[in-house]
Amino acid sequence: MAAFDDLIAAWPAWPTILGAHLLLIVVPAGAAFLALHVWKGNPFRGRKIQPGLAPSHAIRREVFYSLLTAFIFALNGVFIYVSTANGWTLIYTDFADYGWLYGALSLAVTIVLHDAYFYWTHRLMHHPLLFDRFHRLHHESHSPSPWAAYAFAPLEAVIQAMFLTILIFVLPLHVTVIYLFMIHMIVRNVVGHSGFELFPRGMPAHAVLGVLTTNTHHDLHHSSRGSNYGLYFTWWDRLAGTEHPNYREVFDRVTRGRERKVASPSSVLRAWRPTAIGNESTGRGPARNDDPRDMFNADGLERQAVPDARAD
Ligand SMILES: [Zn+2]
Ligand SMILES: [Zn+2]
Repeated sequence: MAAFDDLIAAWPAWPTILGAHLLLIVVPAGAAFLALHVWKGNPFRGRKIQPGLAPSHAIRREVFYSLLTAFIFALNGVFIYVSTANGWTLIYTDFADYGWLYGALSLAVTIVLHDAYFYWTHRLMHHPLLFDRFHRLHHESHSPSPWAAYAFAPLEAVIQAMFLTILIFVLPLHVTVIYLFMIHMIVRNVVGHSGFELFPRGMPAHAVLGVLTTNTHHDLHHSSRGSNYGLYFTWWDRLAGTEHPNYREVFDRVTRGRERKVASPSSVLRAWRPTAIGNESTGRGPARNDDPRDMFNADGLERQAVPDARAD
């Protein structure tokens, strides 16, 4: 039980680690929420992906579970702290040990690996046997706010935390690289759940920038499920055939700004609803769970209506 004793002995560091994890979610999510959902001068207000803002009870739920996730991540942080103090991990503190180039490359590799880890664990959690316990809570945010970024059920939070815990035992990572990775992770998550499209027009079709997920990309995952499982990059969805068939069209409509009043995304969303699912044979519906390409039969139990375009 030496490891357990070490965890207890590290108690003076616990408040710092917990405080850091709380700040890591509260600051970016709070700032994005104030800037996009509260501030009347929000310059992106014409780019709301779904009509209407999330109701206050949904926001309260998202805040509660985001803070719970921060607590679970902090527990994991204590484990990493103790493991590193005992020399069990490959975390290092002097860039000279591996050089600056390695430091930069290790950050890029960590982000790419995390994206792959996220995509496949995410698809796995959409399996009917796992969805309820692991992932349904995150999908209660049909029209997400920035606070939905970490709104996970505890079991999903553990899955999300495990990536870094595994990686530090197999890949040497500088402490600063870990901090940068965590900041990048939460910022991309908060932005992706912001409910507004902040990325430039034409991005999904761009030869280079198109590999990055946009806010519309993940928003579609919340509004219609069964597609767009990726976190930072679009390549896994494209390789596996799980990109939403109307992704580019919706992005174009959302980023058309005020012209949306003429052709709003809600009209597109309505077109995907199961009333239109009867049109699956026409190819007009979203990527559905009965797609034979979907090895996990994702969302097999989720044949309910695609959520209303209204905030919920
Ligand atoms: Zn999901
Ligand atoms: Zn989400």
